[in-house]
Amino acid sequence: SKEQGRNTYTFFTDQMNNDMHRRLKVEEQLRNALKNSELTVYFQPFVDIRNRKIIGAEALLRWYNPELGHVTPDEFIPIAEQTGLILSIGKFVLETAFAAAYHWQTYFNRQFKIAINVSPKQFRENKFVDLLKALLGQYDIKPSSVELEITEGVLLSGDLVINHNLSAINDIGISISMDDFGTGYSSLSYLRSYPFDTLKVDKSFINDITVDPGDLELVGAAIAMGHGLNLNVVAEGIETEEQYQLLNALKCDYGQGYLFSKPLPQAEFEALLEKQESI
Ligand code: C2E
Ligand code: CA
Ligand code: CA
Ligand code: CA
Repeated sequence: SKEQGRNTYTFFTDQMNNDMHRRLKVEEQLRNALKNSELTVYFQPFVDIRNRKIIGAEALLRWYNPELGHVTPDEFIPIAEQTGLILSIGKFVLETAFAAAYHWQTYFNRQFKIAINVSPKQFRENKFVDLLKALLGQYDIKPSSVELEITEGVLLSGDLVINHNLSAINDIGISISMDDFGTGYSSLSYLRSYPFDTLKVDKSFINDITVDPGDLELVGAAIAMGHGLNLNVVAEGIETEEQYQLLNALKCDYGQGYLFSKPLPQAEFEALLEKQESI
């Protein structure tokens, strides 16, 4: 009826209003988040699949705002990207991650890998490679222990700056990882055309490998293909012992997920390393 139609209509406009209001609120608060020290970087270990030893960590942003409470990266990263705030926020993540890696290297007297997510706008910047070079100079860590995680969104525009930055980064010796592998349309052709070092199988494929033979088949194929292309393969989102055993049998190289550890504040991650290194 006409009445119902109007109700549905108001429902949708209310919903749109709420979404828009929330988005504006998040954007407004995000503008001051860095300067108010509301952003922190957590570290989630990843392990060598064969022996479960921690060999590195992925840097993951966390945001606590007094008005909004905890806001997830899935909500604020796209807004940071659209507004350009990702440039300063991304720089903060890079600096924090390099400083942490340098600290671990000095303290434990060996190298750990540090994986850092880089968004399209950051990657498209002319000065991005200069920033990396400056950080490498400042923190004296081996370029090969730094890995930049990019999704195919970074490569989609295919413009010259991206090509240039990718080869420049590869020339410096910094590693490049294809994140969320399997979720996009073009990951395969990109793997062939760009100098990737690592392939990170998306957690949506790992989820069901113990119950869905199709997913298990796909993950096995992705690992075999990665190895065929001389890439290291990481499985993310490993939550159970059963998933771990399957991935070990499939000769996956590295693993990441709640089974090993959630993302941790830097001090807690270091306590975990301390425990491991003293054994
Ligand atoms: P991502 O790069 O795919 O990161 C992995 C996400 O999976 C993280 O979510 C992590 O906490 C979560 N995760 C790890 N192990 C498990 C598990 O066993 N089970 C489940 N269910 N989840 C697991 P998080 O921290 O919420 O980050 C979400 C996304 O936000 C990231 O996805 C990444 O795309 C983006 N992000 C986070 N930090 C940054 C950053 O510093 N820069 C940029 N550009 N993006 C970031
Ligand atoms: Ca990632
Ligand atoms: Ca390389
Ligand atoms: Ca992912």
